[in-house]
Amino acid sequence: MPLVKKEIIHYLTDKTAEDELFSKADDTRKQYCGDTANLRGVIHFSNYCRCDDLYCGLRKSNKEMKRFRMDTETIISLADEIAKNSIKTIVLQSGEDVFYSCKMLCQIIKEIKRLHDVAITLSLGERSCDDYKRLYEAGADRYLMKHETMNEELYEKMRPGRKLKDRLKALEYLREIGFQVGTGNIVGLPGQTIEDLAKDILFFQDFQPDMINIGPFIPHKQTPLKDYPPGDFDLMLKVFALTRIVTLNTHIAAANTVATLRPIEGQYLCFVKGGCNVLMPNCNPFAESKEKKVEFEFQCAPKKRYVSVDEAKEILKMAGRKIAQDKGHSLKRR
Ligand code: SF4
Repeated sequence: MPLVKKEIIHYLTDKTAEDELFSKADDTRKQYCGDTANLRGVIHFSNYCRCDDLYCGLRKSNKEMKRFRMDTETIISLADEIAKNSIKTIVLQSGEDVFYSCKMLCQIIKEIKRLHDVAITLSLGERSCDDYKRLYEAGADRYLMKHETMNEELYEKMRPGRKLKDRLKALEYLREIGFQVGTGNIVGLPGQTIEDLAKDILFFQDFQPDMINIGPFIPHKQTPLKDYPPGDFDLMLKVFALTRIVTLNTHIAAANTVATLRPIEGQYLCFVKGGCNVLMPNCNPFAESKEKKVEFEFQCAPKKRYVSVDEAKEILKMAGRKIAQDKGHSLKRR
């Protein structure tokens, strides 16, 4: 259902409209996405990053961060584990790490596709147009790249050296190539206004992404934003709900940063009030040994809570959702 800016601001600010908003979001989710939910198994394969985003613990200036890179064999074996767990989407996520050449990434994608009947989502940040094309041709199905905020000035302040228009152009290009495209914003960035959030929601309405990932700002102690308060949970929940209403059938994930702000209950509420239909459990080998836990900890947010596959299943059960058995491709392309 299309909304204008004034209506969005009303829902974001008027407490008395909350029940109506959440109920509309849940009705929309039910009508356009049904009662099933998709699980996407995420492999965070590198926490090196060439960017210096003020809000992120992985920023290159953070010299205290313990960095890791997985080799190809480790990535493939984790993909095997995910597929064995009957999860039909594998998300390959990293910082913007040019150590992984396009050729290496294409080999990984091809090998996973050769071994398993799964969809692959990439979340690798900005790369060249040629890279995007080759990654798609290698078999990747989806590309997730958050726009973070539609306030251009704030974007450029938060992401030194980067321009919002370049990111938006990249999203357009990814769609043109054939990728199912995902984007998303951060709620609660220092300096962000209600008007900015309304602009994010209007962008979702206009662009109609195949997938959306919304998360709260979480101050990381090793960043310049360490003393700012985290994003407000209730406001974030309204952003989720409005996003569902304006995008109808977009896959919307209750991100792991939501669980960092409010464990378990946070993602549950995103499902029952915010219109979410996707969870992205972390599939790095945390549980295996203490050493590996340290070695493969992504930590873009402090003490970031990564929901395991078992926890994700529990949340879906609490929310009364069944796990979808298909690959969970875009509902906009049927
Ligand atoms: S948000 Fe992504 S691109 Fe930005 S510093 Fe963190 S890992 Fe790098």
